[in-house]
Amino acid sequence: MKDYQHILLAVDYSEQGVYVAEKARSLAYRYQAKLSIIHVLDNIPMPDTNYGTVIPLDQDSSDELLEAEKAKLMQLGDQLNVDLANRWMLWGVPKQEIIHIAEQEQVDLIVVGSHGRHGLALLLGSTANSVLHYAKCDVMAIRLQDA
Ligand code: AMP
Repeated sequence: MKDYQHILLAVDYSEQGVYVAEKARSLAYRYQAKLSIIHVLDNIPMPDTNYGTVIPLDQDSSDELLEAEKAKLMQLGDQLNVDLANRWMLWGVPKQEIIHIAEQEQVDLIVVGSHGRHGLALLLGSTANSVLHYAKCDVMAIRLQDA
């Protein structure tokens, strides 16, 4: 079997994402592969306050929120030693953008977290499910423990 050469980690910044990131890091180390990370912005990032979630209406605050999202990606990229050129932040539907970047960048392994879904949630699908079905390369789904 040929070693993986380019691994793409899909990050959603969930608490359990740290575990998924560690797996991707150790796989990249084991295979001496290039590691890329991707975060897809699929909604307007909104801050939580004591009064609930606040929807920013002015341009300045949404710019700040985007900067905050970017800072999170930069922090994770630094932790995982990912080259600047391999840190992706895009607007869109997560499953589509993950697959799009994987093809564009000739990724041979995508790493995602996966919840043990059943019932209606399984029928509705998940990011991990869609990536698994539509990606042209291998996909590693790291099982996440549901809270
Ligand atoms: P989900 O199916 O949405 O619960 O997410 C499962 C996994 O999909 C996460 O652990 C991430 O690896 C990936 N993922 C979910 N949302 C995003 C996102 N917005 N950007 C990048 N990856 C994501």
